[in-house]
Amino acid sequence: MGTEANMRPSFMLDHMVIKLGKYLRILGYDAVWDAANRTHDLIMAANRDGRWFLTRNTRLSNEYPRAEHLVTLASDDPVEQLGELHAALPLDFTSRLFTRCIRCNIELEFIPHKEDARRFVHPNVWQKHDSFFRCPGCGTVFWKGSHVRNTCRKLGLDAGPV
Ligand SMILES: [Zn+2]
Repeated sequence: MGTEANMRPSFMLDHMVIKLGKYLRILGYDAVWDAANRTHDLIMAANRDGRWFLTRNTRLSNEYPRAEHLVTLASDDPVEQLGELHAALPLDFTSRLFTRCIRCNIELEFIPHKEDARRFVHPNVWQKHDSFFRCPGCGTVFWKGSHVRNTCRKLGLDAGPV
């Protein structure tokens, strides 16, 4: 782990804000959730790992262990939640955008030779794009295509050249 990685906050989300977790992964943040786990256990795990616990549950204080790092969100809209979180804990929206697998929460690896990506993607996609990334976990190949532009538009971000 580099020092830079240690400086970036990481997150544990409860089942009410999982969509926000996906956006955090899109921004390159380490974000985990487990809908099968009880809130009590999620908070314990967040405290153990030094993660920020994100929830919409406003009645945490009496029933549960105290989350050491806690942000309680009011909105039920994940884009608005991202704004709320950003107000509480300024986020970096640009430098790691689309560097992490949304499914696995693992950092993507750049495929250095475009030729090596050819067999993983549709020929039209391969022709149109120059940079491809692969998830070392699930093997999915990513590129900065229309889904990047659409997501950035939704989040109010500049996608850059895609
Ligand atoms: Zn993956």
